[in-house]
Amino acid sequence: MKKMSIGFKIMLWFTLIVTIIVSITYGIIFSIEYNIVHKGIKDTLIYTVQNNLDEFEYYKSTDNMQINRVDHIINYEDGFLEISATFLQNSNDVYTALYKEDRTLIYGENPISKEVSSLKFTDSVIQEIKVNGTTYYIFDKKIPLDGVDNLWLRGIVSEEQGNKQVQSIVRVSLIIFPLIICFSLIGGYIIVKKMLKPVHEISTTAKQIGKDGELKKRIDIGNGNDELHELANSFNEMLDKLEYSFTKEQQFISDASHELRTPLSVISAQAQLSLEQSKTPDEYKKDFEIIVRQSKNMSKLINDMLDFSRLEMQSEKYKKEKINLSKVISSICADLMLLKEKNITLSDEIQQDLYINGNYELLTRLVTNLINNAYKYGKQNGNIFVNLKSTKNEIILLVEDNGIGIKEEDQKKIFDRFYQVDSSHSEEGSGLGLSMVSEIVQFHNGKIKVESELGKGSKFYIFFSKI
Ligand code: ADP
Repeated sequence: MKKMSIGFKIMLWFTLIVTIIVSITYGIIFSIEYNIVHKGIKDTLIYTVQNNLDEFEYYKSTDNMQINRVDHIINYEDGFLEISATFLQNSNDVYTALYKEDRTLIYGENPISKEVSSLKFTDSVIQEIKVNGTTYYIFDKKIPLDGVDNLWLRGIVSEEQGNKQVQSIVRVSLIIFPLIICFSLIGGYIIVKKMLKPVHEISTTAKQIGKDGELKKRIDIGNGNDELHELANSFNEMLDKLEYSFTKEQQFISDASHELRTPLSVISAQAQLSLEQSKTPDEYKKDFEIIVRQSKNMSKLINDMLDFSRLEMQSEKYKKEKINLSKVISSICADLMLLKEKNITLSDEIQQDLYINGNYELLTRLVTNLINNAYKYGKQNGNIFVNLKSTKNEIILLVEDNGIGIKEEDQKKIFDRFYQVDSSHSEEGSGLGLSMVSEIVQFHNGKIKVESELGKGSKFYIFFSKI
C-alpha cells in the first residue's frame, strides 16, 4: 500500500471537518433565510391588501361625487364605485383584485383567477393553493364600505418570489463554498508543513545515521519547548548515550587487543624458537615455563576484561541493597591478613555498623582490589592500614600503604583502563584493577581520591554517602 504522509492525513481530516462545519452552517443559514423570506412574503401580502382597503368610495348617485380625473368609476348595483388612482394592482409582486361575494372579478389583476375561482372568501386568513407545482398565498379582506357589504379584496402572491431570493443566496454561497474549502486547504497545507518541519528534520537525521552510521550527527530544530522539541532533545540525548557507549566499546576493544598482543607474541615467539632449535630437556622446560606464565597472564587479563566489561556495560544488573559496610570490610581484612606476602602486616580500624546502599559483590571486589594493590606495590616488611569511619555527611574508607608510591603525574592516569605505571609489573596485573574500582565507586555514587608520594606510600580514599 502506498505510504500516506501524516501531513496529508491531517490536511484531509482538516478539510473534511471544515467542509462538514461549513455545510452545517450553510444548512442552518438557508433554513433560517427560507423561513424569514417566507414570513416576509406573507407579511407583504397582508400589508399590501390592507393598504388597498380604503382606496374605495361608494356613491348612490353622481350628485355629490368629487371625481378625480385619474380615478376609476365603476357602475355598481344602484350606484357608483370610485376606485382611487393610488390602488395598486400589482405592488411588491402582490396582485390585488376586487371581487363580488360570488367571486366575479370587478377590478384588478389575478394571475390565477381561473384556479381560485372556486376558493371561498375567508376574512383575514392566509390560504394556500398549489398551481402547476407553485404554491400561492391568498389573503382576503371584506371591504368595509358604507352601503356595500358584499365586496372583497383578494391579494395573491407566489412563493416563487421568495424562492428567487433564496436561490440567489444559494448561488452566491455555492461560489463562496469552494473558495472556503480552497482557503482551508491552502492554509492547512502551510500550517501542517510548518508544524511538521521538525519531524521531517528528525526523520532525515535518523535516516542519515542509519545509512552512514554517523553517530556524531544531531538534530537541530532550533529552540522551543513544544512536544516536537522534546522529542528532538530526547533523540539527541539518546544519540549522546549511544555515541558514548559506542566509543567506549571501541576503545575497550582496541585497548584489549593491544594488551593481548604482548603475551600472545611472547608465546608465539617462544614456541617458534623452541621448534627451530634442538634443546636439552632443561632448556625446553624453561621455554615451557615462559609459555605457561604468559598463558596465565593472558587468562588473568581476559578474566579481568570480562569482569570489567560486564560491570561497565551491564551495571544495571547489579542490584543495590542496605549493606553493613563495616562487616564486609572487616571480613575481607580478616582473610587478607593471613597473606604473609613480603612479610607485610595488615591492620585495620573499622567503626562498627556503618551502612550504605550498595552491592555486596561489587563492594567486596573494590576493597579486595585496593588491598591487593597495597600488597602488590608494598615494600618488604611493610604495613597496610585499613580504616572505615563515619563523618557528619559521609562514610570514608581509607586503604593506606607504605609501599613504592605513585608519581604525581601518574596519579591521574592510574584509573585509566590498562594503565600501569611500571611495565615491569605487567605480569602481575592487567591495569584494569583501579578502573574497575573507579567504576564501582561511580556505581555507588561515591568519590575516590588518591594521595601518594614516590617511595613513601599511597593512600586511597573512598567517600560513600550515608543512608
Ligand atoms: P594493575 O593490574 O597493574 O595493578 P591497577 O589498575 O590496579 O592495575 O593499577 C594501575 C597502576 O597503578 C598500577 O600498575 C600501579 O603502577 C599503580 N598502583 C596502583 N595501586 C598502587 C599502590 N597502592 N601503590 C603504588 N602504585 C599503585
